[in-house]
Amino acid sequence: PWEFDRRERSSEVGFGGSVESITSKDGRLERHVWKPTEHVLAVAYDTPVAGWRANRVNTLRLWSGMPIDPILLDKFNAGDHIGALAESNKADALSRVLYPADSHMAGQELRLRQEYFFSTASLQDIVQRHLSQYGDLQSLPDKAAIHLNDTHPAIAVPELMRLLMDVHGMDFDQAWDITKRTFGYTNHTLLPEALESWPVPLFERLLPRHMQIVYAINAEVLLEARATNKFSGEQISRISLIQENGDRRVRMGNLAFVGSHSINGVSALHTELMKETVFADLHKLYPDRINNKTNGITPRRWLIQCNPGLTALAREAIGDRFLDDIDAIKGLDAFAGDATFREKFAAVKRANKSRLANLVADRLGIKLDPSALFDIQVKRIHEYKRQLLNILEAVALYDQIRSHPERDWMPRVKFFGGKAAPSYHNAKLIIKLANDVARVINRDPAVRGLLKVVFVPNYNVSLAEVLMPAADLSEQISTAGMEASGTGNMKFALNGALTIGTLDGANVEIKECVGDDNIFIFGLTTAEVAERRNNGYNPRAVIEGSPELSQALAAISSGVFSPDDPQRYRALIDGLYNSDWFMVAADFDTYAATQRDVDTVWRNSPDWYARAIRNVARVGWFSSDRTIRQYAKEIWNVPV
Ligand SMILES: *Cc1c(COP(=O)(O)O)cnc(C)c1O
Repeated sequence: PWEFDRRERSSEVGFGGSVESITSKDGRLERHVWKPTEHVLAVAYDTPVAGWRANRVNTLRLWSGMPIDPILLDKFNAGDHIGALAESNKADALSRVLYPADSHMAGQELRLRQEYFFSTASLQDIVQRHLSQYGDLQSLPDKAAIHLNDTHPAIAVPELMRLLMDVHGMDFDQAWDITKRTFGYTNHTLLPEALESWPVPLFERLLPRHMQIVYAINAEVLLEARATNKFSGEQISRISLIQENGDRRVRMGNLAFVGSHSINGVSALHTELMKETVFADLHKLYPDRINNKTNGITPRRWLIQCNPGLTALAREAIGDRFLDDIDAIKGLDAFAGDATFREKFAAVKRANKSRLANLVADRLGIKLDPSALFDIQVKRIHEYKRQLLNILEAVALYDQIRSHPERDWMPRVKFFGGKAAPSYHNAKLIIKLANDVARVINRDPAVRGLLKVVFVPNYNVSLAEVLMPAADLSEQISTAGMEASGTGNMKFALNGALTIGTLDGANVEIKECVGDDNIFIFGLTTAEVAERRNNGYNPRAVIEGSPELSQALAAISSGVFSPDDPQRYRALIDGLYNSDWFMVAADFDTYAATQRDVDTVWRNSPDWYARAIRNVARVGWFSSDRTIRQYAKEIWNVPV
């Protein structure tokens, strides 16, 4: 009932075909006309999005692919029922499924078709609405801001150029000026395997006019670069929109960069690394464009909705102002030293942990003790996020508890959750390993009551709303320099979990806000990771120097956790010995030692909860309200 179809707001989308040049009588080139061979319809569907306290309602406009003529009469009449159906299926496919790859590029033709379909549908809509309201397109950058959320819609840059030049008759310079002043671009990753690029032959076949425009933009940019006399031939080739070594490809990140007046990263560290790595040359050419907008999370969902217990306790302590202005949550800082408040805070946490324990009992049949430390790592499964480091530590701890049952171990439950892209083999294997390790540990009476491992299936936002409020410890342990920001880190901290993490992404800024005593930082820094990668890193030597890690790896490779298939993790373990790109071995000992520091603080309950309360009080800055205000003021030029 919340979705309204707006059939009258639909537009035509073309693919393929050729480009015609229209010349005037005296032989001057007047304009280009793209003659696509395929046509589909993009139909608008609107969902109202009510703001906090319903003071504003925005419209979310989504697009659905439809065949132009649903019956395709001529083909149908000619008896080609299959052909008629194929056309319809193709149009539906444009908006049916989202490519599930995360931090990895899916190089499928359908993906490029989807990117163009959604981009042109939105652009045609924006241009039409602007024209009907203001009469001409000169003022487009003053009235509209179009933001490229990653490179997925970067095809919008040449598409707006096409609409301005071929449909609305502007010349290149005019169109290029308007385009750059209209677009902003947010970069979300530095991982080379995630940077989008499309083979020139595919691009040319699907979008022949856009290919011409990309070449024209490239000529303009390379001319500007050469005119500065600041760039070597090699640097010029890195600035180019076309990758020339190997197969020729269109670089969508470079296209988004040159077509935008603002390019931002999503944490302070990530933004600095953008300037030094992927966009070093473009940053030198356009030094005023890169800026930072550290990510945030909405306190409506990630505090008020998911944690009513903590919300009620905070209202009782500091009043209601934080409901409208999350900065006011800092008032809780004064209560960290208040024993009565700490006990109430601990009771809320305990109730949230019971709620999660009940969910795990219902879905997995595993019984958990809510007084144990709840240690949670939930996020997409990826080697750079290093779930493997956490699993290896669980295996090492399991061995330590069995070897030294007399020690005063602190009961702990390690939770894992997250999805892997279907084709990401190692990520799938890591899920399997977490499940295999969990089965063996949870059945062993030797560690009963001291260590449990739980892999929660089907991690999604609804599950996150139960997990975040129940966490004591938040695992944010990516290889330094590889996580652009993270937002899970913020959700956990706002719900009173302490973070164990590396100096990566927004962890760096979370540490600055909560203070060094209220977070557990370990591991190599970004510079140290780079130094080891450049100067020869020998993971085998590191593993052989760590008895705990060697033992854990030996147990896994000898089939202790996979007796049905002892070789299951051979390749995974060999990868650690032979390359270990993600520095799991290099960080293992310091990670394990920091986990024992966590136990020490956990043992002193009042001290632990004081630190947890300070986390809640000090992370209000990581609100998406602050982030969006910065986008509005510093990029979109919208008064707030
Ligand atoms: C917040 C969130 C994420 C992002 O988590 P990171 O730890 O920042 O990678 C992923 N999935 C879901 C369901 C989330 O709620």
